[in-house]
Amino acid sequence: MSSTTQVASQPHVDGDFYKIMATLTKEESAILARVRAFMETEVAPIINDYWSRAKFPFELVAKLRALGIGGISYQGFGCAGGTNVLNGLICMEMSRVDPSFATFYGVHTGLSMGSIYLCGSDEQKQRWLPPMARFEKIGAFGLTEPGVGSAASGGLTTIAKRDGHTWILNGQKKWIGNATFADVTVIWARDEASNQVKGFLVEKGTPGFVAEKMENKIALRVVQNALITLTDCRVLEANRLQNAHSFKDTAQVLRMTRAGVAWFAVGCQLGAYEHALRYARRRLQFGKPIAGFQLVQDLLVRMLGNITATQTMMLRLAQLQDQGLMKDEHASLAKAYCTVKCRESVGYARELLGGNGILLDENVGRFVADAEAIYSYEGTREMNTLIVGKAITGHSAFV
Ligand SMILES: Cc1cc2nc3c(=O)[nH]c(=O)nc-3n(C[C@H](O)[C@H](O)[C@H](O)COP(=O)(O)OP(=O)(O)OC[C@H]3O[C@@H](n4cnc5c(N)ncnc54)[C@H](O)[C@@H]3O)c2cc1C
Repeated sequence: MSSTTQVASQPHVDGDFYKIMATLTKEESAILARVRAFMETEVAPIINDYWSRAKFPFELVAKLRALGIGGISYQGFGCAGGTNVLNGLICMEMSRVDPSFATFYGVHTGLSMGSIYLCGSDEQKQRWLPPMARFEKIGAFGLTEPGVGSAASGGLTTIAKRDGHTWILNGQKKWIGNATFADVTVIWARDEASNQVKGFLVEKGTPGFVAEKMENKIALRVVQNALITLTDCRVLEANRLQNAHSFKDTAQVLRMTRAGVAWFAVGCQLGAYEHALRYARRRLQFGKPIAGFQLVQDLLVRMLGNITATQTMMLRLAQLQDQGLMKDEHASLAKAYCTVKCRESVGYARELLGGNGILLDENVGRFVADAEAIYSYEGTREMNTLIVGKAITGHSAFV
C-alpha cells in the first residue's frame, strides 16, 4: 500500500546551494526574478500539454518582450548590454522549468542574433537586432545537414554560387530549431568559388526555401525543428553576413552558444532535482516520506553535487566570457562536462520517482528525455572532448 501526502514546515527547496545568484546586482536579480516568475506562471502550467502534442506556445512570445531579455548580453542595437553571467543564469532559469522553451530562446537570441551580432555589418545589425531583441522578429540558424553534423567545419555540402548581386543557394539543412516559423534563418553554405563557408540571412517566404517540421522527436518536443530544402534559393549579396569569411567566424558563434547550452544542462538537472525533492517529501512508503530513507537522500545529494559543481563551473566560465578570456576549449569542456552530469542527475531523479518517473505529469520524465537532446546538440560530447584534447595536448585527434 502506498500513498502521497503534503508534509508541513520543510526546508525551502533551493538548488542554488552555493548562492551563485548572490553574485548578481540588485538590478540583475530583479530581471532574473521576472524570468523565473514568467517561467513558473506562464510556461510551467501548460508545458506538458504542449510537449505531448509537440506544439510551440506562440502566444507566449509577445509576453517575453516585457522581460527585456532579447540579446541581453549584446551591446547596442536595441540590446540591453548585460553580462554573460546574467544571460547564463537566464538560460539556467528557463531550462529549470522547460529545456524546450530555453532552446527556443537560445536559438533565437544566441545562434541567430549572435550570428548577426558577431558576423553582420552595422547595417545588418541595425535592421535585424532591434526587432529581434523585442521578439517581434524570430530567428533560426541552419548549419547541420542531413549528411553532415559533427563534421560541419569542413564538410558542408550546401553550396552558394554568386550570380551578380545575388547568391544562389542549393542544399539541405536538418534539425533547424524555430525554422518552421522564423522570420529569418541564418544559412551557412560553402562558396563554390572560394570553398569558404559563408552565412546568409534568408528571409521567410524567399522562393526556393522550404522548411518542413520534423516529427516524432522523443526530446525537446516543443521545439519546432525543421528539415530545410534550398532549391535555387536566391539571396541578395546585401543579405550575406558581411563579416563571416570562413568557418572560423561560424565557430565564434558556436563558442558563445555552447556556453549557453551548458547553462541549459545546469537548469535541466536543477528542474529535475527540485521536482524530485518535493516528490520525496510527499511520497510515503513504509509509513514515512521516502525523503527520510538514506538511499533516497543519497540520490538527492548526488544530484545536488552535480548541480553545484556545474553551476560554479559555469559561473566562472561566464566571468571569463565577460572578461573576453573564454576560448573554444573552455566552452567545450563546460558543454561536455555539464551535459554528462545533467544526464546522470536526471537519471537519479527519475529513479527517485520510481514508476511515476516515466509519467509526463510528474515532470521529471520530460527532463530525462530533453537531456538527451541537450547532450548531443551544439557539438556532441565526443566533438567537444576532441576540442579540449587538442588544446591540452597540442595534437588533433579529430580524424
Ligand atoms: C533537438 C536538436 C536541435 C538542434 N538544433 C539545431 C539548430 O538549430 N541548428 C543546427 O544547425 N543544428 C541543430 N542541431 C544539430 C546538432 O548540432 C547535431 O545533431 C550535432 O552537431 C551532432 O550531429 P549529428 O546528429 O549529425 O551526429 P553525427 O555527427 O552523425 O555523430 C554521430 C556520432 O558519431 C560521433 N562522432 C562523429 N565524429 C566523430 C569523431 N571524429 N570522433 C569520435 N566520434 C565522432 C558523434 O560524437 C556522435 O556520437 C540540433 C540537433 C538536435 C538533436
